[in-house]
Amino acid sequence: MPATRQVYWNIDGHVWLYLFFAITLMVLGYGVYRRLRLWKMGQPENRWQEVWAGIKDILVYGLGHKRILKEGYPGIMHLSIVLGFLFLVFATAVITLHADLGLPLFQGNLYLFIKFTANFFGLAAILGILMAFVRRYILRPDRLDNKPDDAITLGLIFAILVTGFLIQGARMAAEPDPWAIWGFVGYWLITPLQTLFNEGELLSLHKLLWWIHLALAFLFMAYFPYSKLFHVILGPLNQFFRKRGAVGVPALIDFEDESVENYGISEFKELSWKTLFNSDACLRCGRCQDNCPAYVSGKHLNPKQIIQDLRVRMEEEGKALAEARKFAKKNANSPGAAEAASTKEMIGNAASNVKDEEEELLIAPGRALIGEVIPEEDLWACTTCRSCEEQCPVFVEHVDKTIDLRRNLVLTEARFPAEAQLAFRNMENNGNPWGIGWSKRAEFLSGLEVPTMEENPEAEILYWPGCSGAFDARNQKVAAAVVRLLRQANVNFAILGNEEKCCGDSARKLGNEFLFQTLAGENIEVMKSYGVKKILTQCPHCFNLLKHEYPQLGGDFEVVHHTTYFRELLQDGRLTLGKYEDKKSSRAPLKVTYHDSCYLGRYNQIYREPRELLRLAGLTIIEMPRHGGKSFCCGAGGGRMWLEEHGGQRINELRTKEALTTGAELVGSACPFCLTMINDGINAQEGAVQVKALDVAEILVQAL
Ligand code: SF4
Ligand code: SF4
Repeated sequence: MPATRQVYWNIDGHVWLYLFFAITLMVLGYGVYRRLRLWKMGQPENRWQEVWAGIKDILVYGLGHKRILKEGYPGIMHLSIVLGFLFLVFATAVITLHADLGLPLFQGNLYLFIKFTANFFGLAAILGILMAFVRRYILRPDRLDNKPDDAITLGLIFAILVTGFLIQGARMAAEPDPWAIWGFVGYWLITPLQTLFNEGELLSLHKLLWWIHLALAFLFMAYFPYSKLFHVILGPLNQFFRKRGAVGVPALIDFEDESVENYGISEFKELSWKTLFNSDACLRCGRCQDNCPAYVSGKHLNPKQIIQDLRVRMEEEGKALAEARKFAKKNANSPGAAEAASTKEMIGNAASNVKDEEEELLIAPGRALIGEVIPEEDLWACTTCRSCEEQCPVFVEHVDKTIDLRRNLVLTEARFPAEAQLAFRNMENNGNPWGIGWSKRAEFLSGLEVPTMEENPEAEILYWPGCSGAFDARNQKVAAAVVRLLRQANVNFAILGNEEKCCGDSARKLGNEFLFQTLAGENIEVMKSYGVKKILTQCPHCFNLLKHEYPQLGGDFEVVHHTTYFRELLQDGRLTLGKYEDKKSSRAPLKVTYHDSCYLGRYNQIYREPRELLRLAGLTIIEMPRHGGKSFCCGAGGGRMWLEEHGGQRINELRTKEALTTGAELVGSACPFCLTMINDGINAQEGAVQVKALDVAEILVQAL
């Protein structure tokens, strides 16, 4: 422990120090309490189920920066600041324990270790802060909105770090330190400081800087819960409380429950505490915005803005609640107030939730979630691609809310785009969104002699072509390719034929839960009647729904996507491949770019298998800049396949341009919606006709 510090460590110093510290803690505590009170307004939701997984997430995504580091500049910038912050907190804690509690910690090798690491990471943090200033105020990427809080936060940390090093330098300049070199940043300052000041001045400077540093540190602590700094705690907590298991499975609505009058979510009070917490955990980093196909293509929807708007709405509600409490308190004290007793009791509960009926009466209805906080057009613009969630460093959950709000519009308000109405009616009447007669479902396979489950009850696998495979001319070819590959591998399979109905994915994601449950219920019943165990499909939407969402209704089947299944057949030697050949042009395109479907990739982590199949077919893959988890949606997910696209550019055309820019001769995909959208995109591009879009199954057939 350096002697210089002891100079200020007298009785008076302690008194002032502890007084300031106590005030700081009170301000900090009040700030935390204010936010807690806001989150408590939300509905209960249990997020404690997987504590160890939560801790692991904090280590991997919080400390380890797994997601943040996906972007080089902001990733390194943030990591430098965080490491500096952590090491300096550690160093300060050790010094305080040593000086205040007399624990002999800050000595020997630990002293040298702390001195060196605090200098190293403190310097890294200064560089990180400078990078942040450059990025925010010089480079100014669109996705960052600069608020005064950002400048204050950065300035405060910068000032704490700089004064810390100056203190160290002034001390070592005033008193010879044989270990000075271990504090190398302070060491560099010795000569300039000695040139500028004499010994007495150095001691005074040291004292002054020490108090300034301390005041800044207390200011930092007090400001913490009122500022962006709070994300240091809220970010990891949001990672801890994130949803685990299959992603994007909407909650089941119980239509038997007659007490439910309002489906989905339309009012603030229906939001869960986790939704409110999300809005506080959001760092405003804008990664979601940058990766949202709707926003990037010029639509009004901006996932970051939605989260920020919910935060503003939460604060409005919190303010209204606080005023209601004040009003109630005043009434309780006024003579003769009839409701005094009940009001008082009410305030007793109050940390209480806004859902408390009496209290609710005192709050004027705030802005409606749909329309006033979130524009309706934003709700319909979302493709449920989950890119926002995948890129978010703190696992903010955007999509479930969109579906909940859509549910309200569809099931309670009966207010939705006209095209959705048509798709719903077609699904209801004919079991498919195209509205083609249900009895024509199996016609696409005429000539291929595929047995139905009724004809082949011993089938080892049920092939589920889905509505696209059955009714869409382009995707019928894909279904035929799947059948051909299954035959080639001698797989004993069958279809449901006319007994298959739309799986219900589009209906569910568009908010029509009732239609989804009707369709899914009928499909499950039919499959159970045939004793189906395993289902194969080429459609990622059917795949995801059958695998993760049908179990909610008792439909537990093993479900496999064709890319995974064909990969297995090749591994088992049941299928053998040559090289891909374009039979028509006799040209053998060697370069392919693969477009990841959101529901296969981000929803189910199937990235490797389709690429392996393409390589096995002799093709060279050229990746688009946005691929894998960062893939850019084709624009058809979340039921948007059936809706008109309003405003901005067309998402599929943007994606197709990206694919064509790679110079590949083929665009591979593994989803009927993506295939349709990319085909349309290619047709819309001048001079791109020589490029083909094919499903992986079609490529494999041409490599047989
Ligand atoms: S799910 Fe996709 S379209 Fe919807 S807000 Fe997120 S990034 Fe945008
Ligand atoms: S929601 Fe996540 S990705 Fe979007 S701005 Fe907030 S922290 Fe960043």
